[in-house]
Amino acid sequence: MIANHAETGEVRGERQRTAGNTRVAVIGGGLAGLVAARDLALAGARVTLFEGSDRLGGRVHAVQLAGAPFDVGAEAFATRGGSVAALLTELGITDRVVQPANLGAWVVGDAGPLPLPPGGAIGIPAKPLAAAARKHLGWLGAVRAAAEPLLPRARNIDGDTTVADAVRSRLGERVLQRLVRPITLGVYSAEPERLPLAAVAGLSAAYARTGSLVLAARELREASVAAGGAVASLAGGMTTLVSVLAETVAALGCDIVLGASVDALSKGAAADAPWKLMGGGGEPIPGSGHFDAVLLAVPESAARALLQAAAPAPSREAAAPAEHDIEVIALAIDDDRLDAAPRGTGVLVAAGAGIAAKALTHVTAKWPDRAATVSPGTHVLRLSYGRAGSAPETADLDPAAALALAHRDAAAILGMHVDADRIVGWERQRWHVGAPPGASPRLTVPPRAALAGDWVSGTGLASVIPGARAAAAGLLRETAHITHNTSRNESPVSPA
Ligand SMILES: Cc1cc2nc3c(=O)[nH]c(=O)nc-3n(C[C@H](O)[C@H](O)[C@H](O)COP(=O)(O)OP(=O)(O)OC[C@H]3O[C@@H](n4cnc5c(N)ncnc54)[C@H](O)[C@@H]3O)c2cc1C
Repeated sequence: MIANHAETGEVRGERQRTAGNTRVAVIGGGLAGLVAARDLALAGARVTLFEGSDRLGGRVHAVQLAGAPFDVGAEAFATRGGSVAALLTELGITDRVVQPANLGAWVVGDAGPLPLPPGGAIGIPAKPLAAAARKHLGWLGAVRAAAEPLLPRARNIDGDTTVADAVRSRLGERVLQRLVRPITLGVYSAEPERLPLAAVAGLSAAYARTGSLVLAARELREASVAAGGAVASLAGGMTTLVSVLAETVAALGCDIVLGASVDALSKGAAADAPWKLMGGGGEPIPGSGHFDAVLLAVPESAARALLQAAAPAPSREAAAPAEHDIEVIALAIDDDRLDAAPRGTGVLVAAGAGIAAKALTHVTAKWPDRAATVSPGTHVLRLSYGRAGSAPETADLDPAAALALAHRDAAAILGMHVDADRIVGWERQRWHVGAPPGASPRLTVPPRAALAGDWVSGTGLASVIPGARAAAAGLLRETAHITHNTSRNESPVSPA
């Protein structure tokens, strides 16, 4: 059911609390921008959302494959923290939540394909001496990791410490190389040497509480039944959330302008001077005007460029962030041997395993609702390419060569030959992804501006959604005193 919040008392109450009709421009229509726009509009702000492309959702996007939509960006959300569930409840769509099959994930490394030890976090095993972990680590590595809770708490480990430094010093090289590295590359697109502990939601706080990475992993995942299992999705895929948010935001009176890339911002020197938005060539964006506040929900490089143009900062702050490309290739394969889900819900591939892909998701095994949308015996596999710091292996390949590589990798990962004529459809999607929070120099945010997005609050919807809500709340606090002498029905933007 789609709830129309414009009709609810919740919305009317929020609006009454904010009498000012603050004019806010939200720039970027991914999940962060949509969630922030909704909260701002619910609180009575007059919101215009500018999205540079011709669709909403950003990295939440689906393509048609084997007659049904399949996600080629985010396909699920982490259930930790309950922030996504809270939003779904507010939107009235908890009945659309679907759970993954309890099959567990695998890792392909030096020792070949092996099930990922259950119950860990980013590959840190919750029970290092259990057989599932010993198969990866051997007795030596397993005993070294199992002794970790007995080690004294390391004073030099905090949120800024990299995952690599923390894992290597406390758990040993084998845990780092055989379990943690494939996961940080597959899930965070980041080498553990470049991933701060604080970027892994909850890990740094759990380590601070327990003094042990093994105990922290156990604490973080004790509710999960299989490794990689603490996620959920929505019937029809995660674009369901985009559609419902877009409808809700529009019903709240927010103007959504597609194809409106904001290429420059300007603001007078006074703290309360209005913001102006410009497109390419410095021309005002059609439908744009003056805004009391701006919320930037764009990737880091775009946010830095916009703020740098609006309020030039020392060059140290303008440093280019470490962004890179990844590519997703989705294959639809008509082969009922895949009904047996030979690699569970999917596989993370260690570098050096002789396979170019860094991960494979067996989409139709992982999500039974999606299997129901295709013909019996048809399966959808999703391969990801592009480890941090290097272009995706598919980057320069023409379509035939990219398909051939994905076909070869899928067969190697699944451990079975798949005839080429069994591939009944395929799609490729290139993504530009940012560095995790804390990886780039700090950015000074001017008054009446706020930042949202995964580069600010952490990768994944479970971090992006609360981060965007916090950014919207901060902006509302900052602009609470503004009142305009206009009625609610007046055009939300003044002429440029
Ligand atoms: C392949 C892949 C798989 C993923 N899987 C998962 C998953 O399963 N679960 C999960 O939780 N997360 C997953 N993620 C991460 C998740 O998708 C992101 O963390 C999240 O979608 C980021 O949302 P965002 O709004 O911050 O950014 P984006 O979605 O990138 O949105 C930014 C928007 O800003 C627009 N924009 C950019 N510049 C401008 C401009 N100058 N003017 C106007 N608009 C502009 C862009 O067009 C875009 O729509 C995945 C990511 C990828 C790439």
